[in-house]
Amino acid sequence: MSNTAECNNPERKNPESTVENKEVPGYSNFIQDIIDEDLKSGRYNKVHTRFPPEPNGYLHIGHAKAICIDFGLAARNGGLCNLRFDDTNPSKEDTEYVESIQEDIKWLGFDWEDRMYYASDYFDQLFDFAVELIKMGKAYVCDLTADEIREYRGTLTEPGRESPYRNRSVEENLDLFYRMKAGEFEDGSRVLRAKIDMASPNLNMRDPVMYRILRAHHHRTGNKWCIYPMYDFAHPLSDYLEGITHSICTLEFEDHRPLYDWFLEALNLKNRPRQIEFARLNLTYTVMSKRKLLRLVKEGYVSGWDDPRMPTISGLRRRGYTPEAIRDFCERIGVAKSNSTVDFALLEHCIREDLNARAPRVMAVLRPLKVVIDNYPDGQVEEFDVEINPENPGMGTRKVPFSKVIYIEKDDFMENPPKKFFRLAPGQEVRLKNAYFIKCERVVKDESTGEIVELHCTYDPLSRGGNSPDGRKVKGTLHWVSAEHAIDVEVRLYDNLFANPNPGEEKEGMDFISNLNPNSLEVLHSCKVEPNLAGAKPGDRFQFLRMGYFCVDPDSTDGKLVFNRIAALKDTWAKVASKE
Ligand code: ATP
Ligand code: MG
Repeated sequence: MSNTAECNNPERKNPESTVENKEVPGYSNFIQDIIDEDLKSGRYNKVHTRFPPEPNGYLHIGHAKAICIDFGLAARNGGLCNLRFDDTNPSKEDTEYVESIQEDIKWLGFDWEDRMYYASDYFDQLFDFAVELIKMGKAYVCDLTADEIREYRGTLTEPGRESPYRNRSVEENLDLFYRMKAGEFEDGSRVLRAKIDMASPNLNMRDPVMYRILRAHHHRTGNKWCIYPMYDFAHPLSDYLEGITHSICTLEFEDHRPLYDWFLEALNLKNRPRQIEFARLNLTYTVMSKRKLLRLVKEGYVSGWDDPRMPTISGLRRRGYTPEAIRDFCERIGVAKSNSTVDFALLEHCIREDLNARAPRVMAVLRPLKVVIDNYPDGQVEEFDVEINPENPGMGTRKVPFSKVIYIEKDDFMENPPKKFFRLAPGQEVRLKNAYFIKCERVVKDESTGEIVELHCTYDPLSRGGNSPDGRKVKGTLHWVSAEHAIDVEVRLYDNLFANPNPGEEKEGMDFISNLNPNSLEVLHSCKVEPNLAGAKPGDRFQFLRMGYFCVDPDSTDGKLVFNRIAALKDTWAKVASKE
């Protein structure tokens, strides 16, 4: 049937939609205000941002927020945004992550063009900066152990104590630092520290560590280095080397900003970048820390980083989310300076809004109950012309076959219905969507179990197309699938991965794993869908009438389609039923 093609998602023609490089009138948030001021005052004459992921995991929806802000602000101000891998921690990093991060950013619709960098590209320059600081007397090699350094650091209420190695001569520091680089000392035996202020009220300023000795294979520099710069030292200088103007990061770095500025000032650098912090995204029923997500993957609680229940970009993509819906979500949550938790329902709202007008609608019966229409002619098949999407008439129509034996949802029948049950029941008449009125005459049960296995109904031939022949009303309209034309498919229904709205909070040593929802995945094996779905491909999205939005999973084979439910519809039928 030629309708198959029409049923595929229109967006597939252009799967990688992009964000236009233009000023958006009325766009405003506190970061844009700062940028406006900076451009007006002449502090900067351009906008250059960066997105700096650490390649130690897959990107998640929180990163999508940061990506939309970093790339979005650059695009809106006629500027540029770099992608920079913050790969200063070799023991946790991997090229698998580097690749997935690029794929996810592109899929979201953003483009770093030829500006993909690695902090490790700057290891030589960073080393030179460190040497310069030593020569200025602003950095020293310290032999305290990690525990001692922590102990000497003091607390929020107590000042720290100076390291006994703090006043080494420049010559001795240079000698030791070069020998650290040359591999003469054991891992962890010495560090390079900035000489700032052990009494600073800001703990980050109490002679922070700049370099550590670590014999670890780096995914890009191999075994060239056995000392690695710390994030707080590498980050501002990487920003500087790339000509970043606005270095946008999350709130937990606010207390690191004085240190960020200290390195740039101490080195007398011109055209210094400016760090601006915003609140991280938190979502209900979701953990976002990469450490926790990694545990879910490693310990097999999910099928992988792209499990459709994961809040990762790859998980959301596999689930069926569109880049447009995710960008819309990031736009709606806005950019603020105070931490808050966003309701997961908002993300679902965004995908419903996006798919409502563009996902083809089809009929699919998830839990089939066989219905025989006794007075319908044996062997007769009718085809009804049905709109592919009434919200979008331009998508045209499809043909849906009808015959004597059909399937309806088990839930759409009750033998002893409560008063306001408007679906099918003995003696009760309903409309089959776009087909006919039918009335239930008889129920067939399995003799041994008592389970309802089949209904016998009659139809009114004058109600063709589902229209009332004489003005009489039916209160329920059911979706259905013709049995002889139906395709068997597998459907995976998802619920929140966690049962607790705030699963990451680890109170009294409780492990977040204990908050997992044991019913987050339900697999239905013999669902029946209309034949128009025959040519569906992984990634195609549909609305199954009354059942929600669904996306074809890559686990599909030639023999069997597998669908993921992206989100349910707001089911008013279920609401009425549950009130009884
Ligand atoms: P995690 O703490 O989960 O390991 P991270 O912050 O270390 O995450 P990075 O790879 O360093 O992860 O993050 C890259 C960028 O994304 C950073 O600028 C970071 O501030 C931002 N980011 C990370 N998580 C969120 C979030 N939940 N909301 C908004 N931005 C985020
Ligand atoms: Mg980080």
